Amino acid sequence: MRWHRNRSHPGRPEILDLRHFTGILRYLVASACSYNEDMQRRSLTITGSRLGVLDVPEATWRTWLSERGELPMRIKQIRRWILARRAESFEVMTDVPAALRRDLADRFDPLASRISAHRQARDGTHKLLLTLSDGRSVECVLIQEDRRRTACISTQVGCGMGCVFCASGLNGLERNLTAGEILEQLVRLRNLLPTDERLTHIVVMGMGEPLANLDALLVALKEAGDRQGLGIGARHITISTVGLPSKIRQLAEAGKEYQLAVSLHAPNDPLRTRIVPTNDRIGLQEVLSAADEYFRITGRQVTYEYVLLGGINDYPSHARQLAGLLRGRKAHVNLIPFNEVAGLPYRRPGDAALAHFVALLRQAGISVKVRKRKGSEIEAACGQLRRQLLSAVPAAEG
Ligand code: SAH
Repeated sequence: MRWHRNRSHPGRPEILDLRHFTGILRYLVASACSYNEDMQRRSLTITGSRLGVLDVPEATWRTWLSERGELPMRIKQIRRWILARRAESFEVMTDVPAALRRDLADRFDPLASRISAHRQARDGTHKLLLTLSDGRSVECVLIQEDRRRTACISTQVGCGMGCVFCASGLNGLERNLTAGEILEQLVRLRNLLPTDERLTHIVVMGMGEPLANLDALLVALKEAGDRQGLGIGARHITISTVGLPSKIRQLAEAGKEYQLAVSLHAPNDPLRTRIVPTNDRIGLQEVLSAADEYFRITGRQVTYEYVLLGGINDYPSHARQLAGLLRGRKAHVNLIPFNEVAGLPYRRPGDAALAHFVALLRQAGISVKVRKRKGSEIEAACGQLRRQLLSAVPAAEG
């Protein structure tokens, strides 16, 4: 791999160039793989391998239950045990007949994932590395702040978007998560809380590009909203996207009041394309007009995320240009000082550069917040823990 050097500032790291070319290719290859895997997963269902309860298709349940002379209402009962009553085994489902519980245990897993690492930070942040039924792994995080209990969840194993500073995409996309696997992260995180507490918010800001797996995400979030289950309302759910315009429109048409966060990261096309390679074939204006439409259709103000990479996109000229771009839009900016990723040459902005950037945006009348750092000692940023643990066991990365 080769790194560009910044000619005007020789000591300063620049952007990895190969990614521009390999990102799209990797995405196409990985999408094909993930399609294959979806097909395999479907055939697993048919051939009778074990599945997690939250991933059992309705038709499979009905057949399986009717073969045992049971009514379809059992599906709801069993799912409720897991989603509302925190069951992690069939044994505890005491209002399900014992023989059926034994049959269930022979055929299904209450939860398909296994917790392969659990880290807790002093600020109350928990991070879980979950191993999925095919041996792949994803991360999810529980953030506790005042009375908020926020779950940060993943939608894909790896990521195909290739943002140059992000740990999740360093090895490309492996596959989409199923709706059950997305939902299961919420269950696993909620089960860490005392029984009198519940999850209050979801941020879809873990590994992967949520809008590249929108159908599964929508199924999972609908289930998360069920008042008899996790009961997390759409207004408390934020979906963060790299900015895929047609999918933003599809999300707007879904008729839900999800909060949309768009990862902008640069105020002009050349810089954005260097940081966010997917910008090359989309462009800032397209992303912004899809976001405008999201606001028009849903009435929900859009948040723009901006990762600050010291010496790259944190100059006063960038702040002014960003303000110009968002002027006249009802928008909020979330500045995220870069969380260092081992092996990547980027760094956080200095305190003075950060303060100046914030001040310039505020002067221009833009609503802006700097994202607080949570759980930094447990590698809480996207894809970091997984990367660290997988690189400790090279064989697992295949
Ligand atoms: N694919 C989605 C979700 C990514 S995670 C998206 O692009 O929005 C949520 C946010 O964290 C994104 O804005 C992402 O760019 C940012 N992020 C990823 N890695 C980061 C890091 N190491 N430091 C700071 N922010 C990071």
